[in-house]
Amino acid sequence: MSGITREQVLEALKAIIDPDVGRDVVSLGMISGVVARDGNVGFSVEVKPEDGAAKEPLRQACEDMITRLPGVISVTAVLTAEASAAEGGPGNGHAHAHSPAPSGPLPAGGKRAKAPEAQGVPGVGAIVAVASAKGGVGKSTTAINLAVALAAEGAKVGLLDCDIYGPSLPRMMNLSGKPELADDDKVMPMEAYGVKCMSIGFLVEEDTPMIWRGPMVMGALEQMLRDVVWGELDILVCDLPPGTGDAQLTLAQRVALTGAVIVSTPQDIALLDVRRGINMFHKVDVPVFGLIENMSYFICPHCDGRSNIFHHGGARETAAEMGIEFLGEVPLDMEIRVTSDAGTPIVASNPDSDHAKAYRRIARQLGETIASASASGHRQAPPIKMM
Ligand code: ADP
Repeated sequence: MSGITREQVLEALKAIIDPDVGRDVVSLGMISGVVARDGNVGFSVEVKPEDGAAKEPLRQACEDMITRLPGVISVTAVLTAEASAAEGGPGNGHAHAHSPAPSGPLPAGGKRAKAPEAQGVPGVGAIVAVASAKGGVGKSTTAINLAVALAAEGAKVGLLDCDIYGPSLPRMMNLSGKPELADDDKVMPMEAYGVKCMSIGFLVEEDTPMIWRGPMVMGALEQMLRDVVWGELDILVCDLPPGTGDAQLTLAQRVALTGAVIVSTPQDIALLDVRRGINMFHKVDVPVFGLIENMSYFICPHCDGRSNIFHHGGARETAAEMGIEFLGEVPLDMEIRVTSDAGTPIVASNPDSDHAKAYRRIARQLGETIASASASGHRQAPPIKMM
């Protein structure tokens, strides 16, 4: 199934007239970076920096037009404006226009990364996604323990729970209450174990069912990324929602991810989806920093016997086959489950345990990979300071 093509998108957009000029957006050269894959469409509507958010109705009209076409599953249209000054990349605090919720455009005035829509977060060095092809493989547990481990290694770390439907960060980091408001309608992150945290779970009650339409998800995520006072961070760890579908693709396109880490259990069936996940990140030019095998093996606490409950070594093999790094394995263990679910991540609550050491080893390796990706200039992330 291939869905709609790039050409069909451009053809349809010829019907959208910029009322200020009286000509269509395609012939005006305003449409760029059109991506159409399996019914998921993304493109930029380029505007002059001074027009900025005033062109939001035009962006909306473009998005609506494509949404109506047959074969379209999702549409992400963003406003972009080329920065007039040469300075101002990620970390340099580029201009940020407040984006109207729920499907607000990206701020005008940002310098472009390779994908025209992707934008960094001012003050944040590297943005690293922790992803999994399926739910329940321990992605959040891994993301949280890695974030705590990176902070323990001396890095300034933030953790963003990107799961809008089932946020788990408040429980796993034992955070409750509401975040404080800052100036300019911004929100302060909440802090636990040396990590600055944000989750939609801080803003809505835990048992409130949340019904989000596609564009609202991205709007909410944008706000959690950009309207939170992260301050200076070496690394922002983004705990992605499970799966490698539309939401993940959109996020990867819209946020200047420095790289991604994929968590998987070792069975073949899970690893099949992992390949798809790796390919998804490659397609949107996000480097995959490595694969982590979770629930890799089980050591019986009574007899010390080892069982490979979900098979073993599959992630390492897949990583080798696909030419990406294998970052390490974490066993299936009661203490990891208990601490993770109790909001006392094992890296913090039992730092000398073998399991905490495993997370710290992985975090250290990840830190080095991020630093060398930064040194090679990818996505312009500054080097991370590790002690
Ligand atoms: P995901 O984010 O992939 O949906 P979670 O991190 O929420 O997965 O983990 C699912 C469940 O598995 C949680 O109850 C968690 O405590 C548990 N879990 C995760 N990793 C391990 C592990 N290595 N050993 C034991 N339990 C684990």
